[in-house]
Amino acid sequence: MASFPTRWDDGTTQDGPEHQLHWYDERTAIIRQALRTNFEGPFSYLLLGSERALLLDTGTGDADLRKVVDELLAGRDLALIVAHTHGHGDHIGGDSQFEQVVGTSAAEVAEYFGITAWPDEIVELDLGERVLDLIPIPGHEGSDLAFYDRTTRLLLTGDSLYPGRLYVPDWTAFRASIRRLADFVAAGNPVSWLLGAHIELTNEPGVDFAMGADVHPDEHPLQLEPAVLGELQEALSEAGPSPHRIVRDKFIVSPR
Ligand SMILES: [Zn+2]
Repeated sequence: MASFPTRWDDGTTQDGPEHQLHWYDERTAIIRQALRTNFEGPFSYLLLGSERALLLDTGTGDADLRKVVDELLAGRDLALIVAHTHGHGDHIGGDSQFEQVVGTSAAEVAEYFGITAWPDEIVELDLGERVLDLIPIPGHEGSDLAFYDRTTRLLLTGDSLYPGRLYVPDWTAFRASIRRLADFVAAGNPVSWLLGAHIELTNEPGVDFAMGADVHPDEHPLQLEPAVLGELQEALSEAGPSPHRIVRDKFIVSPR
């Protein structure tokens, strides 16, 4: 049975583990890096197929993610693909812990996954009895990729949609990307939950923790209801072509 923890440990206990691990179901692990190792406290995902495992994001590099992944894969005969939701430092910082990692530029990501028409083409990745759709969504960083898992119907959105501050340096690209993502979902790809890569909101609607806060009491849950994607898309559509800040209950759009 699929589940989320009632509450994520924000990882500020000094003698606590460097990562909190939660099995969403028997083939989907969610791993959170403790805030005490880095205030970003990013989430990584390990998706298991029958032939391959996909690790999305390696964290900031301040914690030993490799050890966690090795333990999770022990006794399973799976080839590991290490890739990213996007190329920012707090998602690729642990890359050197792994032997082989997918490159972090849009060109390298497109080449590895066989995307010839970036960002308009959606491609499949088959982990073995588990097919993902990969949807390019540049705007936050440039090599941003969303991952839709047909089996669980989870949509992994990286830093492009999560309960926190959505930083948008490329407003035009971001608006187009979120529209494409919403169109993909509307075209017969229903979502169970939206899962991003951070939590920066408190449990009060639209209220975030201070930038750089290394303690997160009463965090918002990680998972967002699928309707939040539609809300983001509509908010961006209403906002028009010039960047501005948008505060909603479940996200804050922050142009840069
Ligand atoms: Zn980022």
